[in-house]
Amino acid sequence: MKIIDLKSAIIGNNICLRVKTDKGIDGYSQVEEFKDFVNVNVPYFREMILGCDPTNVEDVMRRIRRLGAFKPWGKLVSSIEMALWDIAGKEAGLPVYKLLGGKVRDKVRVYCTMYSPDKLPHPDSRTAEERAENILYLNEVEGFTIVKSPVAFHNPDFRAMAEQGGFTYTSYPLDPPVRYPDNANGSLLTDKGLNYLIEYVGKIKEVVGDKVGIAFDCGPGLTAIDALKFAKGVEPFNVLWLEDMVTGDYTPYNLAQVYRDITSNTTTNIHTGEQIYLRQNFRELIETHAVNVVGPDPADVGGIAELKWIAEYANLHGIMMAPHGVFDGVFGMAALTHVAATMPQNYIAYEYPQAHPEWWYDIVEGLPEGFFKDGHVTVWDKPGIGVEFNIPKAQKYLRPEDKEFFD
Ligand SMILES: [Mg+2]
Repeated sequence: MKIIDLKSAIIGNNICLRVKTDKGIDGYSQVEEFKDFVNVNVPYFREMILGCDPTNVEDVMRRIRRLGAFKPWGKLVSSIEMALWDIAGKEAGLPVYKLLGGKVRDKVRVYCTMYSPDKLPHPDSRTAEERAENILYLNEVEGFTIVKSPVAFHNPDFRAMAEQGGFTYTSYPLDPPVRYPDNANGSLLTDKGLNYLIEYVGKIKEVVGDKVGIAFDCGPGLTAIDALKFAKGVEPFNVLWLEDMVTGDYTPYNLAQVYRDITSNTTTNIHTGEQIYLRQNFRELIETHAVNVVGPDPADVGGIAELKWIAEYANLHGIMMAPHGVFDGVFGMAALTHVAATMPQNYIAYEYPQAHPEWWYDIVEGLPEGFFKDGHVTVWDKPGIGVEFNIPKAQKYLRPEDKEFFD
């Protein structure tokens, strides 16, 4: 089998990738964001993989892996990898989880990061009390057993208040106005700023109690000492983890040594890893126990086999695994489900990508009825990643510039 084309299209809010073969088997995946970046780069990647046998996934990856980097630059390499697995599974007549070593669980726990604000009781939540009610809704109505909430510089409210002054000694907003303070030295907190953070978490836990696990996405941008004070301050609340306090998101490095200073001095679980590209860049975090939980995103780290390798290596070292979720989309969710089904005992939950708009669920086939229930996704058995476009239905949503996506 040979690869004969690589195409992209934006459907609804999601960028989709299609790897086309001479056998009429297609591989589909999703790209995290930025259609312009995808448009510019797809022709280059196409040239690199044309003529390759897509079922030799690693052989193809060896040609393109050097063309990625920390988020956002690893996204095309990663999404091509997931589409290759889809083809390999379809060609073998097996679900992708079998090709990754077989499943060790029939359903995988997922967690929610309030991706559909329109459904929530407080779509534009401002206070800790409103966020707590949203978290309860996601647990009681939608069934999630873990929810992730923004806090500190990941929380727009906190940023807005920091801009008004009184939360940091260092200048904020930043000049030039980037979203997050730069790593571990951008944001020395005042008493007021630090107390606000600890109270914010406390208020949410007070309302939510022990009904649902809560993780907090924190930054990046806290100093090592502020991050440690925050982690120690919330120890009584047993939060599931504090994510990306120092580096994360779009910081193109991870400062493992700084994380280790924090992690080894608190009983709060510390989490990072969504921006990191390739297994090699997790080595120090894992080997030095710099965090308690790693969270690579298959759409940034280099794909699902890369994610699986990191999960195994983390497990060897007593580190937990909670993968970050490709932003929006059915194909991302499907790929995550297959790899999560194969992970060792350290697997907690992946960040659940939901398709937007809702009609996305009508233009694909393969998802079993009721596949999401009680905060878990039931693993399904169709070949490949087990989701296909209903092309006549999906075609209607193609933009004029993408009209040839299914040709
Ligand atoms: Mg995050």
